[in-house]
Amino acid sequence: MPSPVPADLLAALQNAQTLLCVSHVNADGDAYGSLLGFTYLLRRLGKSVTPVMPDPLDPEFAFLPGAEEIVLPTALHSRFDLAVSLDLSSPDRMGSAAALIDGARLPLAVIDHHATNTHFGQFHWVDARCAATSQMIVALADALQVPLDRPLAEALLTGIVTDTLCFRTSNTTPAVLEAAMRLQQAGADLAQIVQRTLHRLPFRTLQLWALVLDNLQLREGVVWVTVSQQQLRTVGLQSADLRLSSVLSSVNEAVISAIFTEKQDQNGDPTVECSFRARPGYDVGKVAFQLGGGGHTPASGCTLAGTPDDVVARVLPLLFAASQPPPHTP
Ligand code: 5GP
Ligand code: MN
Repeated sequence: MPSPVPADLLAALQNAQTLLCVSHVNADGDAYGSLLGFTYLLRRLGKSVTPVMPDPLDPEFAFLPGAEEIVLPTALHSRFDLAVSLDLSSPDRMGSAAALIDGARLPLAVIDHHATNTHFGQFHWVDARCAATSQMIVALADALQVPLDRPLAEALLTGIVTDTLCFRTSNTTPAVLEAAMRLQQAGADLAQIVQRTLHRLPFRTLQLWALVLDNLQLREGVVWVTVSQQQLRTVGLQSADLRLSSVLSSVNEAVISAIFTEKQDQNGDPTVECSFRARPGYDVGKVAFQLGGGGHTPASGCTLAGTPDDVVARVLPLLFAASQPPPHTP
């Protein structure tokens, strides 16, 4: 079960009338699911809630009820009583929304399930035993005595399904299944959510796989690929959710997988987005945290300055160290 909602955070939510809620850059299903679920839930209590994302809406999640109401930080002009961050392990993941919340001196409540959460904000509810922040919002609905209904259930089951890769990750506990069961009973269509999120692949993404897998590498239990801007351009993609993590992390000979994607920061300087996965018993959460990123024991990431060659050379030794067999416990 999720840990109980802390009394101070619950009181802050109950006392606020106008709330701004925000999730993370490169939003995934749990970012959208928890943001929209939270928005819907608090509106059921008669509150004014504005959902904010630092990036434009990803068309993949446009099917979620209320997705069209999500606004960019630049579109915010009203005043709020409270800001709430969902599925965010550190404030930098808010993108440009962070400066806005800071500037308005808004009290911030943090609801998150990342083990690497840096405990920012005034009110915290961080539960790393939950497989998704959306799972925590089911518990929040219980605490606020709001019954689960279809729009709420659709959003929250989307978050649970995507963060657990459809109940396949090692953190899929009976409590996760119980939350999912209740969401399905409340009207969420599990098969449709899976079809709309995990079980789909743009043709161009598969073409990109063909290019990047040509340079697939395996050493010391680590399998990795690098994705260049040139390769993205060749297939006609600007940026990509590569969707390659599941494939790489299933390679028999590897316990850790990594994807390095060439990017640029706002100044046009080269950066590399790193995405890591580990088999049970191995920890990439620590590696990402060490590098200034974050995530979970089995799935984590960070963005580092430098060219792909520089960054790969810097990160690989840490991954090789993390891929050593765990010490034998008598
Ligand atoms: P993915 O590889 O799917 O992009 O991310 C896996 C996990 O790592 C997610 O839980 C995500 O929140 C976390 N993560 C990925 N990139 C970053 C990053 O740059 N900073 C932080 N703090 N977490 C990250
Ligand atoms: Mn999540």
